[in-house]
Amino acid sequence: MSGQIKYNLDEKDIPTHWYNIMADLPVPLAPPLHPGTGQPVGPDDLAPLFPMALIMQEMSPDRDHEIPDQVRDIYKQWRPSPMFRARRLEAALDTPAKIYYKYEGVSPAGSHKPNTAIPQAYYNKQEGTKRLVTETGAGQWGSSLAYAGALFDLQVDVYMVKVSFQQKPYRKALMETYGARCVASPSNETASGRAILEQDPDSRGSLGIAISEAVEVAAQNEDAKYALGSVLNHVLMHQTVVGMEAIKQLEMAGDYPDVIVGCTGGGSNFAGIAFPFIGNKLRGGQDLRVVAVEPAACPTLTRGQFAYDYGDTGHLTPMVKMHTLGSTFIPPGFHAGGLRYHGMGPLVSHVQELGLIESKAYHQTECFAAGVQFARCEGIVPAPEANHAVKGAIDEALRCKAEGKSETILFNLCGHGHFDMQAYTDYFAGNLVDLDYDEGELAMALAGLPSVAAE
Ligand SMILES: *Cc1c(COP(=O)(O)O)cnc(C)c1O
Repeated sequence: MSGQIKYNLDEKDIPTHWYNIMADLPVPLAPPLHPGTGQPVGPDDLAPLFPMALIMQEMSPDRDHEIPDQVRDIYKQWRPSPMFRARRLEAALDTPAKIYYKYEGVSPAGSHKPNTAIPQAYYNKQEGTKRLVTETGAGQWGSSLAYAGALFDLQVDVYMVKVSFQQKPYRKALMETYGARCVASPSNETASGRAILEQDPDSRGSLGIAISEAVEVAAQNEDAKYALGSVLNHVLMHQTVVGMEAIKQLEMAGDYPDVIVGCTGGGSNFAGIAFPFIGNKLRGGQDLRVVAVEPAACPTLTRGQFAYDYGDTGHLTPMVKMHTLGSTFIPPGFHAGGLRYHGMGPLVSHVQELGLIESKAYHQTECFAAGVQFARCEGIVPAPEANHAVKGAIDEALRCKAEGKSETILFNLCGHGHFDMQAYTDYFAGNLVDLDYDEGELAMALAGLPSVAAE
């Protein structure tokens, strides 16, 4: 048990550019389609929702995108984030594998989300936006955008999925501390919210519903724009600072991963750590396995269809080709709220179709067991979402033990769980159950997928 456990970089090692995997893909991504016409969307179609700089990033084929100085300066508050070698966890597992983790919980909001919240607020400010409207699941994205809004003097309105709003009151308090307004979704403030409440006054909400509410408000208000914390190409690109730093940190350690593990909700923290490595491989570099881990109760990559679908329940967003459970699918109310999305980032879906990544689904209690074991070895209490990555990494380490292989495993510890201690309390009390989605509901949601002429 000797040797280094922490790999620190200097401020000057913060990447100067984000990495766009689109430049290296052997097959191009299917285009997003207009929800009304079914035709590919152009930049102007998206202009009511996003500033042009982000729309151009969304559609860009260029590999490297310069990070604005002001964004890089703000990144310096918590970046480069630390990478650790989990020596005590390795010892507890008695595995010959080496386990490294990149820790994104050091950001002000406690997760990887500020990596994209800051540039999104920056570009909006540049183009004259006054108000940002968004949705949030567990509250990590809402609090990250609230923080970014405070830095750039933007009003921030957050529609928070009702089940999380009730489970996680402190996330709302954090958003309000940063100056944002947080509303439980479905709400009475929008036509989309009212339509859901009419059908089901007790709706627990979903990310798909909350997105409809936020998009509706942004589209109807001239000075307001919409911001999304995952799924979209530009969001995944902003997160690549994580993987690019990890490449340098593993160089310091004299290592290169055989396996990368990340949890997937919409795919942004996973893409953030994995895409720079997959890019290396696509350009002729070293091969590796990449494993996406998702909840068994919302199994988008492992059970969803790869098809065009809407990003939201109200069908206000463009249709994108992705792994989806159907836009009307409402997953059960398990604790990893950040992983309760019916779809998956088109880029993550696409690289799975190309065979560049694998996916796996776990139930929540086995993920909490993994998170508790991790905390007792490494001291950091992971977010419930991050527990899926921890579980995936531990399983890889145990496989290495069974096979007698000393592989190198890297995973993204994408956030801490300090606002999620109620979930841990429930777990210790034996009150966390392994929820299964309703097969009938899933079949119905999939049957409702839009038919698309372009396919
Ligand atoms: C939002 C969030 C997720 C899920 O989103 P991705 O885009 O898939 O990363 C996972 N973990 C944490 C800690 C989050 O805040």
